[in-house]
Amino acid sequence: MKAVTWQGVRDMRVEEVPDPGIVEPTDAVIRVTTTGLCGSDLHLYEPLAPFMTPGDIVGYEPMGIVEEVGTGVRDLKVGDRVVVPFNVSCGSCWTCDQGLHSQCETTQNRDQGTGASLLGYSKLYGAVPGGQAEYLRVQFADFLPIKVPDGPSDDRFVYLSDVLPTAYQAVRYAELPQDGVLLVMGAGPIGDMAARIALHEGHRVIVADLVPERLERVRARGAETIDITEVDDLGEEVRSRTSGRGADSVIDAVGMEAHGNPVAEKAIKAVGLLPDAAARKLMTTAGIDRLAALHDSIDAVRRGGTVSLVGVYGGATDPMPMLQLFDKQIQLRMGQANVRRWSDDLLPLVTDDADPLGTETFATHRLPLADAPEAYAKFRAKEDGMVKVVFTP
Ligand code: NAD
Ligand code: ZN
Repeated sequence: MKAVTWQGVRDMRVEEVPDPGIVEPTDAVIRVTTTGLCGSDLHLYEPLAPFMTPGDIVGYEPMGIVEEVGTGVRDLKVGDRVVVPFNVSCGSCWTCDQGLHSQCETTQNRDQGTGASLLGYSKLYGAVPGGQAEYLRVQFADFLPIKVPDGPSDDRFVYLSDVLPTAYQAVRYAELPQDGVLLVMGAGPIGDMAARIALHEGHRVIVADLVPERLERVRARGAETIDITEVDDLGEEVRSRTSGRGADSVIDAVGMEAHGNPVAEKAIKAVGLLPDAAARKLMTTAGIDRLAALHDSIDAVRRGGTVSLVGVYGGATDPMPMLQLFDKQIQLRMGQANVRRWSDDLLPLVTDDADPLGTETFATHRLPLADAPEAYAKFRAKEDGMVKVVFTP
């Protein structure tokens, strides 16, 4: 089959690789019909390169049709239409029972000190073959895949794998009060969807980014916007719009590659280019994240407010403004989305005829898998009006 493989820093290639098969009796194999490109894939493109091995199959937003099931699978049938969550979670361990599927104790990577395995996401997360491929092995087939109805287009459902639960968890963790004001840092797919969910729930939403067409997209959905290149001090700008107080809650949907810190930018590039062992050491012992968006989030939230961190950070000793965090009495919540925890809440929204979250028109680009290398480069450069890319294998 064809799959998108990581070959080196900023080098993704579509290669012919062996088809996946049933390994455990509880596995299924799906034929992928739509598979997304996520901002998290970009971290593999550069900063997380030291944890990748040439030939790794990437991608973690797949959906498709069940082709084959193992002998131990009872409920899932060949021909079922499913979306596959990006965390590989068993559904029956203690953490899964708590709704903490991204910490699943069955697939946790204790050797790496990390949580549940993730599709296509480096040695740090189990080195599981990813979903930007024609076929995908799915573990825990009776629990993990989300069954969706036949009929509506894939665009309705594919975001259940990542974008929707990630954005939904970000909004839940933001703990907005009634009539609360939410600031979303970043208008990539995750920030955009978080803004849509909060607007749908009746909140006032301000979104900050620096890419005009991304800001335009959220403005068209009813959010207020801030172009960060046009303001000197983001915190002051937010306070000026909120009776001097700041946002009740802030979602940081930017993460480690934020614009605005040239020193960290160099460090990330350097890590990407170092020999693997040295780079892994630097990454796990030093702070290399660009923290511009996180520090702005902490500044812009009101006293006693909540910062919900959904963008991925990976440094071990990143400097944090402890005085400000403590003095302002800020709640911080964060983590990888517990995808399966939120699917039952989200299914009614994506099957609603009115399409309240605009899933059908969410993708700006639908491309053949063969175009993946170019799409990665363009998505990273934010060229071509590219906000959300989905591939048809
Ligand atoms: P993206 O790269 O498309 O979006 C990031 C956006 O932030 C871009 O539009 C960029 O212009 C903007 N930005 C950069 N610097 C900024 C700054 N200083 N202030 C404000 N905006 C700034 O990525 P995405 O797909 O939307 O993902 C966003 C983040 O969420 C990534 O870090 C990704 O890894 C993470 N993510 C987390 C989970 C999870 O489970 N927690 C799941 C998926 C994605
Ligand atoms: Zn589990």
